[in-house]
Amino acid sequence: MHKFFVLLLLLPLSIFADIKIAVTYPYIGAIVKEISKDKVSTYVLAKGNWDPHFVVPRPSLIAKVRRVDGIIINGGELEIGWLPPLIKRASNSKIAKGSIGYLDLSRYIDFLDKPTKLDRADGDIHPDGNPHYHLDPKNILILAKAIKNYLIALDLDNKKEYETNYTSFVNLWNGKIKEWDKKMEDKKGIKIVQYHNNLAYFNNAYSLKTIGTIEPLPGIPPSSRHTMELINKIKAQKPSAILHDVYHSTKTAKFIASKTGIPVIIMPHDIESLDEIEDLVSLFDYLTSAIK
Ligand SMILES: [Zn+2]
Repeated sequence: MHKFFVLLLLLPLSIFADIKIAVTYPYIGAIVKEISKDKVSTYVLAKGNWDPHFVVPRPSLIAKVRRVDGIIINGGELEIGWLPPLIKRASNSKIAKGSIGYLDLSRYIDFLDKPTKLDRADGDIHPDGNPHYHLDPKNILILAKAIKNYLIALDLDNKKEYETNYTSFVNLWNGKIKEWDKKMEDKKGIKIVQYHNNLAYFNNAYSLKTIGTIEPLPGIPPSSRHTMELINKIKAQKPSAILHDVYHSTKTAKFIASKTGIPVIIMPHDIESLDEIEDLVSLFDYLTSAIK
């Protein structure tokens, strides 16, 4: 009996301790779950049906971030309005920028809509280019690899598990990409309108063309002048639909639809942005079925 307790004391702590990771958005949490299974506890900071640009850094979020071993962010300035004050107030050295626990996924992605050097006329909330890159399913594979390497660096003891889970995820995902490509084949080249250009990477992946947005510039609410111009553009160019996010009011979109006859289609951008979007696969299953 005595010997048993001595042995127990000698076991490495990592057997008992979960790693705790904060992630900014549900889609990141879902990738961490795929790679880590039960080895990591994940805290998702933003809800899936919130505007990802504007999250309120509530005290409960600060308390969570204070206790974690690492943080994974989307980056590309998507969290610029809410995460820096939250990290500052949590004062947790494990998640300081540049530390092993800090992972900025945007570093692995080639951005669309990168602004040209002297031109800042594209609004204020996409200063480095379009940060909504996770809606290209091929980018999910790049993110999964970055997250796998990050977890191994943070928790070498479980390296083998992370590698095995990563390989199964890549196999599953490659199969799904083929399926989604096939579903979207006849949508190639269709024109669409959006509220905010949060489908830029999805549209790029499947060759859909955005002819305009309901907001005049990223982050700027619709104006009647811009709405009238957009209605004229829709009448001239005949796009198939208005693809709309879940978190802005659809009032202007419905007005435009009533003047032009094109449908408004709600497009989820993250897990739990709609009730039926429970995981990464159902997110892309939904998106690739939404446009009729
Ligand atoms: Zn945006």
